[in-house]
Amino acid sequence: MTPKKKTKGTLIVLSGPSGAGKSTVTAELLSERDDIYFSVSFTTRKPRVGEADGVNYHFVSKEEFEGMIERGELLEYAQYVENYYGTSLKVIEEHLNAGTDVLLEIEVQGAATVKQKCPEAVLIFVMPPSFEELSRRLHGRATDDEAVIQGRLERALEEYRQIPLYDYLVINDSVPNATQEIMSILVAEGCRVKQRLPMFQTGAN
Ligand code: ADP
Ligand code: 5GP
Repeated sequence: MTPKKKTKGTLIVLSGPSGAGKSTVTAELLSERDDIYFSVSFTTRKPRVGEADGVNYHFVSKEEFEGMIERGELLEYAQYVENYYGTSLKVIEEHLNAGTDVLLEIEVQGAATVKQKCPEAVLIFVMPPSFEELSRRLHGRATDDEAVIQGRLERALEEYRQIPLYDYLVINDSVPNATQEIMSILVAEGCRVKQRLPMFQTGAN
């Protein structure tokens, strides 16, 4: 019998401190796995140089964001270093219901909400090899001023305390290694009996 396509996509959550390399590893992952839908978040943060509206984020005002919260349009949201960030519920549901895997790149409070609302989600935490390297990467990226970098480094220590909430821990020592580990996790998740068996079941069995 030919297996059917998955009826429900897998919700994948990627978190880690700012500067750990999440965006870099995500870009690499999506170049290898173009069947994954990357969720474009809403944020009240200002675009960085090179960021485009609708590509990296949907950039909105604080009033627009608070309207979305009130109307219940967000699967999760959080405040991070003075800005709001959140995920559209409707867009995620549409893709998951169409059998497409969805990747959320979100911080730890949002990940905790997702875990509570969608216990079957796969949570992956990406860490730099050391705190010194994290600081080097944030300074090397040169996208934020010193006060913002210090805020992000302080936030990183709080985020590390949430690691036990996650299913997998990936150390981003090199981008190809980290990407390969995440791809291996996704392959293993796709082999779970609860994922595979329904693909072979017909109405008769
Ligand atoms: P995040 O999305 O987690 O905030 P980025 O992907 O923007 O982090 O990466 C932060 C900086 O670190 C960028 O300048 C990026 O090029 C660099 N970087 C990412 N991964 C690595 C790595 N494995 N080794 C060295 N530098 C890295
Ligand atoms: P940045 O400003 O560096 O793009 O993102 C700051 C933090 O917000 C990162 O940890 C990033 O993963 C997180 N983030 C981005 N989008 C969302 C979102 O939709 N929800 C939540 N909770 N966090 C997000």
